Amino acid sequence: MSERINRVMAALSQHQSAPLHKGDPLALPLISATTYHLPDLDGAPFMYARMNTPTWQAVEDYVSLMEEAEVCAFPSGMAAISAALFATVTAGDVLIVPSDGYYVTRALAKEFLAQLGVIVVELPTCEFAQCDFHGAAAVCLETPSNPGLDLVDIADVAQRCAAAGARLIVDNTMMSALLQQPLDLGADLVVVADTKAPGGHSDALLGHVAGRDSALMGRVRDWRRMSGATPGALEAWLVHRGLQTLELRLARMCESALYLAQKLSKHRAVRAVRYPGLMNDPSYDLACQQMESFGFLIGIELRDAATAEAFLSECTVLRQSTSFGGTHSCGERRARWGDAVPEGFVRISVGVEPQEVLWQSIETALQKLSP
Ligand SMILES: *Cc1c(COP(=O)(O)O)cnc(C)c1O
Repeated sequence: MSERINRVMAALSQHQSAPLHKGDPLALPLISATTYHLPDLDGAPFMYARMNTPTWQAVEDYVSLMEEAEVCAFPSGMAAISAALFATVTAGDVLIVPSDGYYVTRALAKEFLAQLGVIVVELPTCEFAQCDFHGAAAVCLETPSNPGLDLVDIADVAQRCAAAGARLIVDNTMMSALLQQPLDLGADLVVVADTKAPGGHSDALLGHVAGRDSALMGRVRDWRRMSGATPGALEAWLVHRGLQTLELRLARMCESALYLAQKLSKHRAVRAVRYPGLMNDPSYDLACQQMESFGFLIGIELRDAATAEAFLSECTVLRQSTSFGGTHSCGERRARWGDAVPEGFVRISVGVEPQEVLWQSIETALQKLSP
């Protein structure tokens, strides 16, 4: 573990062992109250649930120790991304978004922000390394890109954004603060869909924005209060529970992903494997430098769409679903959503099942494909 992760894990453990009063519950209580006793306004921690609730506050306190930053929770990853964008861009501004990043971010920018006068420019992730950011007000970055798994040097992009006066927003959903910390590398804001690995059990939507600039985070918080994009108590509670095992799950998931990527890259039926942890992957050196671990997503290319679909129906250990980061492994042919990947490209999200169980099911399914 890196020094940063040791420090974060120590802070989380200290936070969890804060003194209790006799009879206090050990687990976080789920508080759904919308209104709080308010004889006067001075120093009231809670007033009305659109402003703050004890259950989100607990998630924010926890995630804030992970991010080593101020954190504002939202009811979904997209609500967090919307807040980050509405807090940073205004009419006439240029906003750069990755053309191969999360599709809905691009759609939001094009279908809503562009209509409000924001000039939206799309750029493939691998071109962020050469782009001149002068004239841009905000730049959205996702590394590794999804599902292509191209990496970009965050520190380098952050430095060039700062020099150009552009704010850098990094969607860190795929890695989370435990596997990569864009704020340390100079990003202004990080957004994460906690719906994915942080919640981890495929049963709650949640997101957050993290940042170290109080004024900017104040705008993000104002956006939440005014737009009403507030997390539900149950979802916040479920994600708080999921977070307790995040480090443990990620360790298993990343270790298995490396093991499977190595096996897959030697299999005849697999045309290509994309995984930043493979030494011959174009992103390997950068991954070693800016990521704590290589992640739990693998891209494989099979012969064509029909072969990929046959593999997915045969391989019972992989649930066929979109999304990633849950305890169950899942797989999906991404071209069905129109992603710019080959027809036979399958994205595998590795879950917490034992490695050998995963490999046996995958290998059996690959063996059954027509040669
Ligand atoms: C899932 C995802 C989102 C959106 O999260 P929701 O909780 O579904 O709104 C945003 N960015 C990335 C990279 C994602 O994978």
